[in-house]
Amino acid sequence: MRIILLGPPGAGKGTQATNLAKRLNLTHISTGDILRQNVSSGTDLGKQAKSYMDSGGLVPDDLVTQMLKRRISEPDAKGGFILDGYPRNISQVKALDEMLEKRNTNIDLVIYLDTSESVIIQRLSGRLVCRNCGAIFHRKNMPPKNDMLCDTCCGNLYQRTDDKEETIKTRLEVYKKEVFSLIQYYEASRKLHRISADEEAGIVLNKIVHLAEERNDSLKV
Ligand code: AMP
Repeated sequence: MRIILLGPPGAGKGTQATNLAKRLNLTHISTGDILRQNVSSGTDLGKQAKSYMDSGGLVPDDLVTQMLKRRISEPDAKGGFILDGYPRNISQVKALDEMLEKRNTNIDLVIYLDTSESVIIQRLSGRLVCRNCGAIFHRKNMPPKNDMLCDTCCGNLYQRTDDKEETIKTRLEVYKKEVFSLIQYYEASRKLHRISADEEAGIVLNKIVHLAEERNDSLKV
């Protein structure tokens, strides 16, 4: 199965995609995570992407699309994946369609995580990420057992530079400008389902799993 999670920064796409991947045995592909890894290891891609990411803007389409093409060609993506952070605009939607068409596959389900602005700000300003494995925590909602250390790998936790208030505003503006056309596109192909993502993570996950199972059953008919 190939699933896209859409939603504003702070909707919980990363948390949901990680948990959903475990539940459905799919590969979680986050373009933001791959870009951050490239920035921290100082690759050419990371050097080109850094300034866009720091300002809250989008990294140029061709860079991200090439990166995604390589990632979905890896063996672990063959059995299906969950995309988190891609596509971000209509040109990425088209690039993704082309990529999948060449592989005789398609997107099966698109889930839009509808989230109110107050929840977004509250989630992003408290978000902590593990520098080592990328696991996500929250100062209040999901605090680590040990202060600023990852529960999974004991790596150091940090606040993403783009989770600062000023950058959050820019990211939300960029998001709002592009999301409408994505929703329209996937609604027209009857793949889009909306879920309220303001609720607690476990409740949202169960709703997504339910939709994925329904879709999976309909693919078998
Ligand atoms: P995210 O982790 O999805 O919030 O992404 C963090 C940042 O990485 C974004 O603000 C963008 O600068 C960049 N980024 C991630 N995915 C994409 C994408 N599909 N297209 C362009 N830029 C992206």
